[in-house]
Order: sequence, then C-alpha cells, then structure tokens
Amino acid sequence: MSESQVALELVDIYKAYGKLEVLKGVSLTAKDGDVISILGSSGSGKSTLLRCINLLEQPAKGEIVIGGEELKLKPGKEGELEAVSRRQLEHMRSRIGFVFQNFNLWPHKTILNNITEAPINVLKQSKEQATARAEELLKKVGLYEKRHAYPGNLSGGQQQRIAIARALAMDPQVLLFDEPTSALDPELVNEVLSVMRELADEGRTMLIVTHEMRFAREVSSQVVFLHQGQIEEIGPPEQVFDNPTSQRVRDFMSSHL
Ligand code: ADP
Ligand code: MG
Repeated sequence: MSESQVALELVDIYKAYGKLEVLKGVSLTAKDGDVISILGSSGSGKSTLLRCINLLEQPAKGEIVIGGEELKLKPGKEGELEAVSRRQLEHMRSRIGFVFQNFNLWPHKTILNNITEAPINVLKQSKEQATARAEELLKKVGLYEKRHAYPGNLSGGQQQRIAIARALAMDPQVLLFDEPTSALDPELVNEVLSVMRELADEGRTMLIVTHEMRFAREVSSQVVFLHQGQIEEIGPPEQVFDNPTSQRVRDFMSSHL
C-alpha cells in the first residue's frame, strides 16, 4: 500500500485582530482524501483558520504547505506575514477551492461564465476547454439546464451547488467549505450536502466548517474541535462525537444533538 500524500499542512498558525488573539498555535495535517470537519462555538476562530490558508487573512506566525509546496512568507506591515511572491500566492490560491457561506458568485455573469472565468484567466484554458469542463461539472451538480441563467435567478441551494462546481473547475488540491449550508432554508440543505458527500466519496480532500453534526459524523475522517483559537480535541468522528476526552466537547455535543 502506497503511503498517502500530505495535501495540506498548517503549522503553528497564529492570528490576532489588534489585541484580540483569535488563533493561538493551530497545527493540522490533511492527507490526500481526508475529510476534516471543523466544529466549535461561534467566535472560536473557524472562519479565520480557513481564511488564513489562502491568505484571505494574514497570520502573524505559521507555515502553510499545500501538496508539498510551502507558501513562502515574510513579515509585512504590523508584523503580519505576507507572501514573498505574488505569483506563488496566486499559484497556491489556484490549488485551493473555497466555498463560502454566501456563495459569492458574480451576479452579472452567467452560471457558465462564473465557472469558466478562473480556468480561462488563471489556468489559461481555452474557452472551449473551460466550457466543456464547466458543462461536465454542471451535469455533476445537476444544474446543466441553468448554464445560461444568472445567479439571482437561482435558489440558494442551486447557487451553492454552482459555487462548488466553480471551485471544482480549478481542480484544486484541497476544498475548503465555510458553513456552506448555514445561509440556506432548511429544505435546501440536503441538496448541497449530497453533492459534498459525493465529493467525499470520490476521495477529494476537504476541510469543512459546519454545524451539520450528522453529516460531519458520516463523512469525516477526522473531526477537529476548536475552542478559543486552539484545537481542544481532534480525532476520528467516533471519538469526538461519542467519546470525547474534553468536557467542553462533551458539553458542546450534548447541546447540539
Ligand atoms: P468563527 O468562524 O469560529 O465563528 P471567526 O474566525 O469568524 O470565528 O472569528 C473569531 C473571532 O475573531 C471573533 O471574536 C470575531 O469577532 C473576530 N474577528 C473575525 N474577523 C475579524 C475582523 N476582520 N476584524 C476583527 N475581528 C474579527
Ligand atoms: Mg465562521
């Protein structure tokens, strides 16, 4: 059996907003095919952690390695780290798919153009190549017939499935999801979770911030519980959900069942 490769490694990430220390030394490794759910109370630093991975937030300290390539960082203004090379940052970002709570589709582009924009402009694919791949992905998420529509004409669940297709079009090493179903009406949650479940089954490497406990239990290889910017507990779902070591995690689980 071949040794599985490390898809993403975070080493000792620190982040503060002014005096507020939000991440206090978070280290995490995702191997290829891992699905890591990140749980924790509101304000525990979950979004900040995801955003530090592609430098949407600049950490004060830490290392970020994607597919064996370390993102080179240097101290910038106010001591926060910034990318040494804009070009490397863009390259690293192109290897990370990010799915946000509020979809973040471009409202004035068609669904097809939302998906082909980055492959054409960043990966330098031809329009034909990008369109063919986008159509394939639209079929995969069940929205091929919406390819000429605009985001505003789609339901939240459909928009989020498009956002997932858009992320997949870059063929990323890692997919990051920040509460992808939290903005959806309850009846639209499952259509998004079932697309995500399919990606997990295909062996995609995913980090998922979610409050969907049943989903997290079923799809995760590892579950991380974040508390005040530190990992309070990490382990397989059976441990973290059913038999956590931390009393804090026990309390959280019993209030979220
Ligand atoms: P979570 O996603 O777990 O709810 P966040 O990472 O969004 O937590 O936020 C962690 C803490 O950092 C919170 O106290 C939040 O108010 C604060 N915070 C987040 N973003 C900013 C920002 N841009 N400026 C100042 N404080 C922020
Ligand atoms: Mg958040």
